[in-house]
Amino acid sequence: MIVTEHRKRMLIIGGVAAGATAAARLRRLDESAEITILEKGPYVSFANCGLPYFIGGEITRRSSLLLQTKEGFFSRYRVDVKLNTEAVEINRSAKIVTARGPEGETEIGYDKLLLAQGGAPVTPPLPGVDGKHVFRIWTIPDMDRILSYIKENKPSRAVIAGGGFIGLEMAEALHARGIRVTIVELSPQVMITMDPEFGAMIKDGLESHGIEVRTGVGVKGIRHSSVELTDGSSIEAGMVLLSVGVRPELTLAKAAGLTIGGTGGLVVDGTMRTNDPDIYAAGDMIEIAHKVHGKKVRIPLAGPANRQGRIAATNMLGGRMPYDGALGTSVVKLFDSTAASTGLSEKGAREAGFEVGVAYVFKDHHATYYPGATPLALKIVYDKKSSRLLGGEAYGKNGAEKRIDVLATALHGKMTLNDLAELDLAYAPPYNSANDPVNLAAFVGLNNISGYSPSKTPAETLEEIHRGGALALDVRTFGEMSRAPLQDALHIPADEVRDRLDEIPKDKSLYILSKDGFLGHTTLQILKANGWNRVFNIAGGYLAARWTDGWCFHASLD
Ligand SMILES: Cc1cc2nc3c(=O)[nH]c(=O)nc-3n(C[C@H](O)[C@H](O)[C@H](O)COP(=O)(O)OP(=O)(O)OC[C@H]3O[C@@H](n4cnc5c(N)ncnc54)[C@H](O)[C@@H]3O)c2cc1C
Repeated sequence: MIVTEHRKRMLIIGGVAAGATAAARLRRLDESAEITILEKGPYVSFANCGLPYFIGGEITRRSSLLLQTKEGFFSRYRVDVKLNTEAVEINRSAKIVTARGPEGETEIGYDKLLLAQGGAPVTPPLPGVDGKHVFRIWTIPDMDRILSYIKENKPSRAVIAGGGFIGLEMAEALHARGIRVTIVELSPQVMITMDPEFGAMIKDGLESHGIEVRTGVGVKGIRHSSVELTDGSSIEAGMVLLSVGVRPELTLAKAAGLTIGGTGGLVVDGTMRTNDPDIYAAGDMIEIAHKVHGKKVRIPLAGPANRQGRIAATNMLGGRMPYDGALGTSVVKLFDSTAASTGLSEKGAREAGFEVGVAYVFKDHHATYYPGATPLALKIVYDKKSSRLLGGEAYGKNGAEKRIDVLATALHGKMTLNDLAELDLAYAPPYNSANDPVNLAAFVGLNNISGYSPSKTPAETLEEIHRGGALALDVRTFGEMSRAPLQDALHIPADEVRDRLDEIPKDKSLYILSKDGFLGHTTLQILKANGWNRVFNIAGGYLAARWTDGWCFHASLD
């Protein structure tokens, strides 16, 4: 408990994730402080992350989205919440905020001010965006508008512009309401925070549930009952949801002369303080350090917002709680599957200048022999120089988020692949295999770094093959090969390699394709022992290559 000499005036602008957390923390730390929240919307502390699930019908009680009320905040924390009240000006020298609300224009003084204004969904300047059938999803009133539109107009088709996690969650929600959904994403993949092969897996999963996904094309204009795309085509749509990004809410901060960083977020120091010593900020509106490469980024997610609110509150009362950034760990439910990621993607790690290695593990989420096992795709990204873990991605029906949380913990601890290989993780057949996929991914990465089992990603392999002098050696079983044949490869099943060595050229670099990378590793050892030097295992084998741009299998093994 921090002891204060007089009733400190703590003012918070924005009363949802960061703001509400900060208010509760302030009260717990200081029973005497005067705490006020200004919230321009009609609700304080609501579950914005839950909105798609209410629209989809999984959450059935609207009131369960209201985590706290104005009255509840007062009775539990003696926090004065002013709803429908917008802060319109900060006078830094007088330490006064001007607000407009039901009581008219008021001036509220502060000793310490917290900006927790979040962001707002980007509305692209397109013809037709103001239509009554065009929506954004950010607040409870947004959710109510969508639901009453669906009830009254019963649209049979919807277009969602944007294939990020909110767009994908909303695709499932609208689908559950009986609406045929098309996602239109300008980038070549959905879930741009993950690598392209995971974007491709996710797209495939969505399509298998009846969602149409159009990537590499944008929305050009919105008409009454259709959407025009940049490629000249149009899609019938009785409603349109725009979910194309979040812009930090900085009007007040800019007008007050607070420093904005290169990422477009408000600058704070390691204690969440802005360049004004009496103004702190937290949540979607700020820029923070990425915990892996230390560069400034914006990570508009609820976990960081809540933690930042807690830290800011502590420091507003004179505490010294440091904040050193976030990893961007995220997870999204997509029908019966889960996609999750943490740290840097492969492309992010390359852009950051690391000497990148990747390892894939395609394995059942628990022992295959125990009933109910489902496939899991796991990728780790590491630095070949230091063997430090840089990030991870996972997708599957079960167990994806568990592996990503292990990797997030490892990233926080700056662990290397040696550490990951040694992690002692819980095992019994209904839960796992004796070697968790995280352990296995580390083994694969270490084998690559040491040169014992050098590997190349499917994308790197293609580059080598196009450059010439390289050959793909396909060691999948005859059944696997015949169901998804790869042209221009030498096909010798792994079990026959020892007997057919004379068919394998020595004057070319060999890239071994197995089903998932495992038999490729075994085959590589056979070839090395028999004098082949320029030989690489294709990381993740067919199961990674089939999702990689440029690889063409004539059918799928599924
Ligand atoms: C549909 C949806 C689903 C999501 N799902 C997830 C998820 O699954 N996982 C996850 O990690 N994140 C999720 N997020 C993101 C997460 O909700 C945000 O990162 C988080 O809420 C940010 O917290 P914040 O406090 O910075 O801002 P917010 O929670 O947005 O709160 C900011 C508040 O400030 C108020 N405000 C702004 N300006 C003023 C002003 N001048 N005066 C008074 N009040 C003002 C706003 O009205 C708003 O209520 C989701 C977001 C949405 C919209």
